[in-house]
Amino acid sequence: MTVNLLDYDLGGLAVFCEHLGEKHFRAVQLFRWIHQKGARQFDEMTDLAKALREKLKTSACITPLRVVSQHVSVDGTIKWLFDVGDGNAVETVFIPEDDRGTLCISTQAGCAMGCRFCATGHQGFSRNLTTGEMIGQLWFAEHFLRPYLKRDDRVISNVVMMGMGEPLQNYSALVPALRMMLDDHGYGLSRRRVTVSTSGLVKKIDLLAQECPVALAVSLHAPNNALRDYLVPLNIKHPLEQLLPACVNYLRYAPRDFITFEYCMLDGVNDSIEHARELVGLIHEYGSGKIWCKFNLIGFNPFPESGLRRSKPAQMFEFAKLLMDAGITTTVRKTRGDDIDAACGQLAGDVKDRTRVVERMARQRMVTFRPKCQFDSKTEKV
Ligand code: SF4
Repeated sequence: MTVNLLDYDLGGLAVFCEHLGEKHFRAVQLFRWIHQKGARQFDEMTDLAKALREKLKTSACITPLRVVSQHVSVDGTIKWLFDVGDGNAVETVFIPEDDRGTLCISTQAGCAMGCRFCATGHQGFSRNLTTGEMIGQLWFAEHFLRPYLKRDDRVISNVVMMGMGEPLQNYSALVPALRMMLDDHGYGLSRRRVTVSTSGLVKKIDLLAQECPVALAVSLHAPNNALRDYLVPLNIKHPLEQLLPACVNYLRYAPRDFITFEYCMLDGVNDSIEHARELVGLIHEYGSGKIWCKFNLIGFNPFPESGLRRSKPAQMFEFAKLLMDAGITTTVRKTRGDDIDAACGQLAGDVKDRTRVVERMARQRMVTFRPKCQFDSKTEKV
């Protein structure tokens, strides 16, 4: 049986080479050929001895993901749909900007977290992606984009693990993929430019701090437990009084001196001035008076099953102003690629739902919520 070398970080490749009777430096050469030069065939690897290339041909392969479709937005954003087998397909998005190129990578086929405002969550969950399937998205994008954009140098400078799936629920495959991104023999990205986004798996946040601290973004979306229970159901298991101390602790190891909180602005649900005041109180309470986070306000990208609406621009402005007046750096994220459904929260590949998330979410939509939740009457009918 052949192994796919995209699954191995440099440590794994060294062990593989050892099994073939080869020295460690051969693993470095192989790793550089695959990730820096985008080689797919062992015969391209001209500085490897012919005997080793023949050995590799019988024991290994470099099998990238199959591209099902590519869509290019008027703003230059590119979205790919990749086939990952068994009827599942995942999406990856490249977002070009003047000073950077960001790739948004999927980590699971679907997602079991069931966040109310997320198109992926409404599709259900099929399976975790492998390390090779995660790094395969970066491998493909980098080596496709260089000739496509007529560039000789590196195109992707930033990676965000914010595509389909909850990255920390796929922790054991995620960490080797992150190491490959950071490795100077691989993609050589700075820790500050690789971001893991989580809905709040507290124990895994602690583990990531110890094992592979990169920039951290947390999907917050609500200033209190009652509302967050509704929007991000994981909150029922890991409420704010667990999540926020884990975020503060992460800062001791993080490459940046702040955590980014993602906040999807939902009309009449979480976007009032009272919600903004409550958020400021929360941030001060856990930061002992210090500002330790940034807010990224995201305009909701509506999809029919959600029953939710995007906040009005004036409301978003007022909300952002209140946070900024309290000294909290706040940005309103520009929507990119919404003409090709590549904007935040819109990613939805093809997922064979094996966990009945879709059914569960449909049942939740029927529930009448506790008055304690600060929803208006329009939202309660969702
Ligand atoms: S927001 Fe993230 S964690 Fe929540 S359902 Fe969507 S993909 Fe999953």
